Parts: sequence; C-alpha cells; structure tokens
Amino acid sequence: MLIDTHCHLTYPGLIEQAEAVVARAADAGVTRLITIGTDADDHPKVLQQLRRFAGVFGALGVHPHHAHEVSGDFIVRMREYFRQEPKILAVGECGLDYHHASAPRDVQAGVFEAQLALAAELNLPLILHVRDAHDDASAIVRNQRPKDFVVHCFTGSVAEVRTWLDLGASIGFTGIVTYKNAAHVADACRAVPDDRLLVETDAPYLSPVPRRSIKINEPAFVVHTAEHIAALRGVTPAQIADVTTANAGRLFGRKLTA
Ligand SMILES: [Zn+2]
Ligand SMILES: [Zn+2]
Repeated sequence: MLIDTHCHLTYPGLIEQAEAVVARAADAGVTRLITIGTDADDHPKVLQQLRRFAGVFGALGVHPHHAHEVSGDFIVRMREYFRQEPKILAVGECGLDYHHASAPRDVQAGVFEAQLALAAELNLPLILHVRDAHDDASAIVRNQRPKDFVVHCFTGSVAEVRTWLDLGASIGFTGIVTYKNAAHVADACRAVPDDRLLVETDAPYLSPVPRRSIKINEPAFVVHTAEHIAALRGVTPAQIADVTTANAGRLFGRKLTA
C-alpha cells in the first residue's frame, strides 16, 4: 500500500476522469490519496470528491499564488468546512512562493500566518508549499512553531532540508526526485530520516520518470517515485511503502491508514 499525500484531483486533466484515476491508483496499490484544495473556488470541489470516493481524503488551504484573492472572512469559511467534514485532514497547502510571485510577499506572509494559526486552533497538521522562499518561510515557522507539518514537493538543498528537519518537518518528495537534472533533490532525499519521509505526486503536474512523457500525472504514478527513492536509499520499494504509509498515518491521523 502506498499513499499519495499530495495531488489535485479537482484540477483540469484529472477531474474529468476522476473515477478512472482513483481506480487506476487502487490497481497500482495506491489505495489512499489526499487531494489538496488551493483557493475558495477549489474548496467545495474537494469536498465533493471526498464524499464520492472512500479512499480520497482532503486538505484545504490558500496557496500563495492565491493569497491576494482571499476574502476578509476566508478563515471563517475554512473553519466551517473543517467542522463539516472529518475527511479533511490538514490545513494547506499554504506557504510562500517567490518564484511566480503572483501575490506580494507581505500578503503571502499574512495569509500563511493566518493558516498556521488556524491549524494550531484546530490541532491539525499543515502542508507547506515553499518555493524560492526558504529563509522567509522557515523564519515564520520558527516563530509560530507548528506541531506537525510537511514541506511538500521538496526541491531545496541538503542544508535547507536539515533546517526543516530541525524545525520538526516531514518532507514530501514528488517526481522531481526522479529527474536527472535534480541531483540536489536526490541528495536532500538521502538526508531525510526514515520517520520523516513522505511520497506524493502533485498530480496533474510533475510526472515521474519513466512516465515523464505523460503530461497529466496521476496518483498511480507515485509508485515510480517510491521505487526511485528506494534505489536512492538502498532499500526495497516495499520498505519505502511501509515507512511512508506509517509516516502519513502518524502525521495526518489514523483514519487515513485504517
Ligand atoms: Zn505546492
Ligand atoms: Zn500542490
């Protein structure tokens, strides 16, 4: 059993074929997945999918790309979704992204901090998105000290991964770890201890090798990322499956792995 801890089942490319995507994942042994809501329009779509498929769980957050679009009551609205739906397991994805920078940095920081506070209030884990913003994001986390969180789609250096591990983070790896031009991500992956390691697709993006030519990534393909990570770390794919499934259950709650 493998868990895809981060995908976007509600995004174009996957939503039109959600039933087949979930079935192909189950056939590949990926019997659980977490679909991530990224803005106010996306949140109700996520809830629909949770109610549709037993093996689909969710997280709701405001992605830094959408930080400038939030309404004044976005936290109130998110809190209401969390109250309604026990299959929403985490707050996120949220964080800082200076690569595309569609929202000003101070706006991103404010929306990020509000979600850290919501996770603390609800006693839920967080899913962090950090791109080209390592120093500022780690400073905010150091201040607010969230209890349980994952830095998803990790693409930083060994030094950066050590900073996050020291702050208590779990680290999620996508298909990027399988890419030849991302040797630093493979190095970072080797530096993560067994009990902090997670696998994910970030589908429909970032298809792993050997499915890289397939433009729409899907949860079933997390198998390839897990196999690659096993080879990197000198263990069997079954060991990576066991370790990452146990970690996902500890981070996101037992109902995910029950
Ligand atoms: Zn992300
Ligand atoms: Zn994502």
